[in-house]
Amino acid sequence: MQSLFLSNDEKDKKEYIKIIEQTAEAVCDAFDSSSAYSGPEPEELRKDIHLDSILPDNGLGWERVLELTKQKILPNMLRTPSTDYMPHLHGPAVLESLASELIISAYNQSMDSWDQAPVATEIEVEVIRHLCALYNLGQQADGVFTSGGSQSNQTAIILARDWYCSEILKFDVKKYGLPEQFKKLRMYTSEISHFSMEKSAHILGLGYESVVKIPVDSKKRMDTTVLKKRIAQDIAEGNLPFLVVGTVGTTDFGSIDPLFEIAAVCKEHNIWFHADAAYGSGVILSDAYKNRVAGLELCDSITVDFHKMFLLPISCSAVLVKNAADFDALTIHADYLNREEDEEDGYINLVDKSLQTTRRFDALKVWMSFLCRGKDGWSEIITKSMENASYLYTLLKKNQRFSVITEPEITSVVFRFVSGTEKDDDINRAVRRTLLHKHGIVVGQTVADGNVCLKFTLLNPLMTHKKLEQLISVIQAEGEKLI
Ligand SMILES: *Cc1c(COP(=O)(O)O)cnc(C)c1O
Repeated sequence: MQSLFLSNDEKDKKEYIKIIEQTAEAVCDAFDSSSAYSGPEPEELRKDIHLDSILPDNGLGWERVLELTKQKILPNMLRTPSTDYMPHLHGPAVLESLASELIISAYNQSMDSWDQAPVATEIEVEVIRHLCALYNLGQQADGVFTSGGSQSNQTAIILARDWYCSEILKFDVKKYGLPEQFKKLRMYTSEISHFSMEKSAHILGLGYESVVKIPVDSKKRMDTTVLKKRIAQDIAEGNLPFLVVGTVGTTDFGSIDPLFEIAAVCKEHNIWFHADAAYGSGVILSDAYKNRVAGLELCDSITVDFHKMFLLPISCSAVLVKNAADFDALTIHADYLNREEDEEDGYINLVDKSLQTTRRFDALKVWMSFLCRGKDGWSEIITKSMENASYLYTLLKKNQRFSVITEPEITSVVFRFVSGTEKDDDINRAVRRTLLHKHGIVVGQTVADGNVCLKFTLLNPLMTHKKLEQLISVIQAEGEKLI
């Protein structure tokens, strides 16, 4: 039988190294172009990857499977490190983090209990401690790694709801479910916040109607005058405001809600303040721009996504909480896993803070890449992307063929090719498809103020001004063909 696992046996070690080396070579060979995509359309790809069975009667063996992978998959994978790639909030993964992934999967530790992940648990605790310090959350702060921003937000919303019910309504949600007056619970967030707010409200039994959408101003930031009015009005009507979510880097525009003003409103009415900084959390590492996220330290909880601005592999996210005790909401003891006596004896079982049970050692990626590049390395990376966004904005402002929605606060620029005809929505849609299939350039598309727009999310520090000029020329040329 071929080797099953990596072990202390020399034969297994050789096999492991061979497989990893061959894979690394295959991946390198597939980076055969500077473009982001090789171009096939859905139908073509579907045909291309088809196999009659993926469970053959007799195994094909490693060499043949690697061949098939090289043939059918690698050539058509998106090359996210390309400067032709800027559609969403995921970028390339820094090299050292690819080594972290190798370690994470080789050891395959699960973070739920200490005995399944001794040093991994201690590293996660350590990383969380440093992150709480980075965001200046104080001595009582704590946090946990999650599968992504959506889960981090959901975790925070659960903690906020349970805190409010227990502290204000004197009701134990964990034990009895939602209180009788649950239909009156209200959370507030801007109209352009991430959909995980409504999704979480639904999952938590509160429903979409409990999410009050506050309009944004011309810079796409929550209008806090309306927020104040809505909260006052809701209180007067007997509703129960328990949470405000400020977005630090909206998914489309990268706009940042006014954190100090929201914090003051929350303090006045004793409401939990969560910052969805899935996107904007990385700005704190830029010496030049970190003041843009000032106020994060005032929040009761923060969502930090490392698989966005921090350029770490998917998935890697954390939710940080100002008051560690609030995690009690998620603690439930099981004799087979996280016994109460463990805690007394100093064994930390991270499952006590997590929605997940089995969970990856994602904290290693942060530990290695933070240590590897340090403050100066990371500041340079983030600052570069912020400056590129600013340059793209001025470039588009000067060009009559484009309109730009807002000045970027982080690294996203939403704009639109304009011909002055009725066809502009269709033209912008068609241009994006052409970029993808003909040029291998992957850009975002969204709707802003009712118009179809294109979006560049600039996370790659290798992007240059010259390259941005070239990309805009290509878009302009393709747009003009369609007028
Ligand atoms: C990306 C994003 C999320 C969701 O994060 P995932 O990691 O994709 O689950 C939530 N909020 C904002 C503002 C985001 O940009």
